[in-house]
Amino acid sequence: MAISIIIEKCTGCSLCVKACPFDAIRVMDKKAQIDLNKCTLCGACKDACKFKAVLLEKTPAKCDLPDIAGYKGIWVFIEQKNGKVQSVSYELLGKAHELSKKLGCQVSGVLIGNKLEDQLDELIFCGADNIYLVEDPELANFQDEPYTNILVELIKKHKPEIFLCGATNIGRSLISRVAINIKAGLTADCTGLDIDPEKKILLQTRPAFGGNIMATIISPNYRPQMATVRHKVFAPMAADKKRKGKIIKESFDSSLYASRTRLLDIVEEIESTINLSEADIIVSGGRGLGGAENFKVVEELAHVLGAAVGSSRAAVDSGWIPYSHQVGQTGRTVAPKIYIACGISGQIQHLVGMQSSKIIVAINKDPEAPIFKVATYGIVGDLFQVVPALTQAFKSALRK
Ligand SMILES: Cc1cc2nc3c(=O)[nH]c(=O)nc-3n(C[C@H](O)[C@H](O)[C@H](O)COP(=O)(O)OP(=O)(O)OC[C@H]3O[C@@H](n4cnc5c(N)ncnc54)[C@H](O)[C@@H]3O)c2cc1C
Repeated sequence: MAISIIIEKCTGCSLCVKACPFDAIRVMDKKAQIDLNKCTLCGACKDACKFKAVLLEKTPAKCDLPDIAGYKGIWVFIEQKNGKVQSVSYELLGKAHELSKKLGCQVSGVLIGNKLEDQLDELIFCGADNIYLVEDPELANFQDEPYTNILVELIKKHKPEIFLCGATNIGRSLISRVAINIKAGLTADCTGLDIDPEKKILLQTRPAFGGNIMATIISPNYRPQMATVRHKVFAPMAADKKRKGKIIKESFDSSLYASRTRLLDIVEEIESTINLSEADIIVSGGRGLGGAENFKVVEELAHVLGAAVGSSRAAVDSGWIPYSHQVGQTGRTVAPKIYIACGISGQIQHLVGMQSSKIIVAINKDPEAPIFKVATYGIVGDLFQVVPALTQAFKSALRK
């Protein structure tokens, strides 16, 4: 695109100056001048100009679009750690299975590692129609370069239409490399996936602009359409032991396994508290607690329920609780059976991290707080009265 002012038509009226959100236009000698370093070609000035003095020309992109006709099927990267398939992979297989019905295609998992055969049946029971299996002692643990090289080769060979991967530490590192390599688009951290009923392309929904809007992103011209999804955003499908699938073993020249990095050791993180992502019940506290010392109100309820303690970012930013407890867009995504939000307003950035919870209980003194829109049960009241009362009630109920 290119932009210019048609000098003969410009009257120097300044309407374009006022309309420009990027402060890119000045009027000098009664003629508008555009600072191309600031201009983003948004077109606001063109719309504002009554004299049709702004020329915004669209130049066709000079790139040849690839042939995407032969791409078919949905693939899921099956993440394994220490030889154990990670739960995010089952969640993605479940979603892929659902999407495949709308596309009339098959779902394939790609599993790279060593000695993984005992887990193949479960992957098929949980949504995979095919498993591409690449095994080698050298591939036992994830390493960026060999895993990237293998995925790139497999994608070039089999041409999947959609490729899904967990937005985990491994997934994020791996899939961006793959996308660059095969020149495909990649939508990170999706919170929703669907198929456009007419165009049959993947609709990839994720928070944008700091979580203030939900954007639906499409990749119409390149394949595969690639997306990452965080742990716990989707639920796995119930295992169907009657499902049958195909195992396709692939092997490659060992030169493909070359890596500039070397894995020295794997050190397990030891969590002293209940792991937030795995907890069935989470009791979370927000700014409404008013101070670090008041987190004990939340902790006492969590203790009685055998729950993990979560928090909003406001509480973390205030230094009341460590970041590892933060739930939300820039914290953990959780989907427990019960999520109890105490003194949390329910801004979108918090909601995207917990709204898949089965039951949401919100305690807030403001009846208009947005958290009540997603809550299964809402308690309007002072948390310093409500939460201790709940703790007492659960204590005696659970004692019986
Ligand atoms: C890019 C970006 C990323 C972000 N990521 C995250 C994220 O990952 N997680 C996250 O949580 N936020 C995130 N935020 C911040 C988010 O926008 C909110 O600022 C934050 O969630 C607010 O936290 P809060 O609900 O605890 O505080 P507030 O919004 O201040 O709400 C406090 C609530 O407590 C209630 N209250 C006060 N006193 C009491 C009482 N005695 N009893 C009962 N209720 C009471 C109030 O009515 C109010 O509703 C992010 C923001 C941005 C811009």
